[in-house]
Amino acid sequence: MTAPVVPTTRPMPGEMVLSVRDLRVWYPGPKGPSQAVDGVSFNLRRGEVLGLVGESGCGKSTLGRGLLGLLPPGAGTDGQAVFEGTDLLTLPARQRQALRGSGLGMIFQEPMTRLDPLMRISDHFVEAIKAHEPKVSTQDAVIRATATLRSLGIPPSRFRNYPHEFSGGMRQRIMIALALVLQPRFIVADEPTTALDVLVEAQILRILAGIRRSYAPAMLLITHNLGIVAETCDRVAVMYAGRIVEQGPAAEIFSRPRHPYTRELLRSTISLTTQALHSIPGAPPDLVDPPSGCRFHPRCPDAMTICAQQDPAVLTDGEDRSVECWLSDDLETLTPALRAPLEQEQVSVADEA
Ligand code: SF4
Repeated sequence: MTAPVVPTTRPMPGEMVLSVRDLRVWYPGPKGPSQAVDGVSFNLRRGEVLGLVGESGCGKSTLGRGLLGLLPPGAGTDGQAVFEGTDLLTLPARQRQALRGSGLGMIFQEPMTRLDPLMRISDHFVEAIKAHEPKVSTQDAVIRATATLRSLGIPPSRFRNYPHEFSGGMRQRIMIALALVLQPRFIVADEPTTALDVLVEAQILRILAGIRRSYAPAMLLITHNLGIVAETCDRVAVMYAGRIVEQGPAAEIFSRPRHPYTRELLRSTISLTTQALHSIPGAPPDLVDPPSGCRFHPRCPDAMTICAQQDPAVLTDGEDRSVECWLSDDLETLTPALRAPLEQEQVSVADEA
């Protein structure tokens, strides 16, 4: 397989591509709105890969889709998501649609649900290219598409095949090629290796690394697999119940996690040195009516009385390192009663959820 995609722009490390501030996304429901993303902030620079991790249902995919304007009808948004100077959240749908392709791209987790089974792969590509660049001739679109596919290991001889004629790994590479053929400057990759075997997963990770070397887009990599994050990402944002509870450089998060949820997630990862399986008791909360104070307090082994009563502040250490936990605050300023361990029976209630 060759290095993916011929570059057209050179990376300019450090250049800000996306700045997200206090982003909120909610879904209406009979019991009230479900706050799937609740006040999330982060930056993403050119050439940077930010891994977004957390358990299922913590809001990772909603965050990615909210940024690209791909939420289901009825979903509400608030806050700011400034992409190259333009707030995506206030942009009219038509203008946001125009940004997709060379500006914004998405790699979905299930290619079969995204590829039309009645359309040849060639038609998917020509349609995608012409939708964003109507002046491109069909011949040029075919040349670009086959070059991109070839760079991802799909030979031109397969260009006119239908999606069902490919293996799962090849379909995922086709999805990646479709997202990359217009060289978007910001890509959301949502669980791009889920449901693939480990060999194909390794192949996809090599492809993502190649994309990064070739034209250096900013990438938000959504995954529950911490091994993938360790291999692929510059920075990590850990999400729990709609909030980013910790973020920072990947090496620091892995070696010195500050938030108990990050620490417990890392402990739950299986490696060659694993001697006993570890899991986090309980389950993520109902986002219609989340727990008071720190949302992790019903499951947290370090929970104190104050954790159930008051929201912890977001404490920053430099622009890229932050944690939202009372333990990182100055505990000396709290009364002994507030610092006291949370009653065990309150924690066990969450276990039964
Ligand atoms: Fe645990 Fe309290 Fe920190 Fe929340 S604020 S993670 S409950 S110690």
